[in-house]
Amino acid sequence: MTIIDGKQTAEEYKAALKQEVKEFVAKGKRPPCLAILLIGNNGASETYVANKLKTCHDVGFSASLYRFENTVSENEVLTCINELNFNSNVDGIIVQSPFPNHISPQKINEAIHPAKDVDGFHPMNAGRLQQNKPCYISATPKGIMQLIEKYKIETQGKHCVVVGRSNIVGMPMSILLSRNSKPGNCTVTICHSKTVDLASFTKRADILIAAIGSPELITADMIKEGAVVFDVGITRVADKTAKSGYRLKGDINCDEAAPKSSYITPVPGGVGPMTIIGLLQNTLLAAKNAIYN
Ligand code: NAD
Repeated sequence: MTIIDGKQTAEEYKAALKQEVKEFVAKGKRPPCLAILLIGNNGASETYVANKLKTCHDVGFSASLYRFENTVSENEVLTCINELNFNSNVDGIIVQSPFPNHISPQKINEAIHPAKDVDGFHPMNAGRLQQNKPCYISATPKGIMQLIEKYKIETQGKHCVVVGRSNIVGMPMSILLSRNSKPGNCTVTICHSKTVDLASFTKRADILIAAIGSPELITADMIKEGAVVFDVGITRVADKTAKSGYRLKGDINCDEAAPKSSYITPVPGGVGPMTIIGLLQNTLLAAKNAIYN
């Protein structure tokens, strides 16, 4: 059994990105620039945004943070996005989720110009992904594909079960693994909240990807012997013994599932660190006008 080290892999990709940025700037270009919009003061969002800003800085990007109160109007956020769309010094725009209830994620995602949509959430990028055309691939699935490549995991002909059908993780993941490419060529089953008898599907997975957000929902008895297991879920679970007052839990009980798996990602330190890499790679592509030109 191999524990997939997302942290180490992310460090390697980070070094490569830093070098690429150096070469880009040496050609007289300005450093890639990511604009991050943050609404409210959700603790997890604050942490994610701080990590994104730090990693931008580490690889030589410039990044700017636009903070809004929880009570900000949808129009105000849309106006900010529109200004950033026209700002030629900005390459990528992301809005950290979750949003307050009065702000429509769909409207926000569609307001970002597809050429600056480095999260890959705009319907234009989602549609192009489905048609196997150049696009910004949502960062988490992109990161998982890079882990698959790095660990030389065979995907062709395998049965992959993706649990979760969100536009951010589950759906793009299922498209990437089913398309005719390497890695790819899996037979993919998508499970979701209305799936009856989830275990009957997960037990048949050569590759299992859990993107649910329900701590340790998937137990060892639901996993096939020798399966490759990616745990995307991250949930803060209260724990008085932890300094922060909480622990991060995945969707899978890793300790129990690991002995049965051939490869498994831990939480934290598995998929998470690669998500930021995917985002930064997309931003560099945007700075190079590599997708839309
Ligand atoms: P989401 O809430 O949009 O989607 C969750 C999906 O899980 C839904 O499609 C739903 O149908 C499915 N689901 C819910 N209960 C289920 C059940 N009992 N059985 C089967 N399926 C069920 O969430 P998301 O944005 O896709 O994120 C999923 C998890 O991944 C969350 O914990 C999130 O924090 C985490 N996440 C982690 C990273 C990372 O970098 N590691 C990135 C994005 C999301």
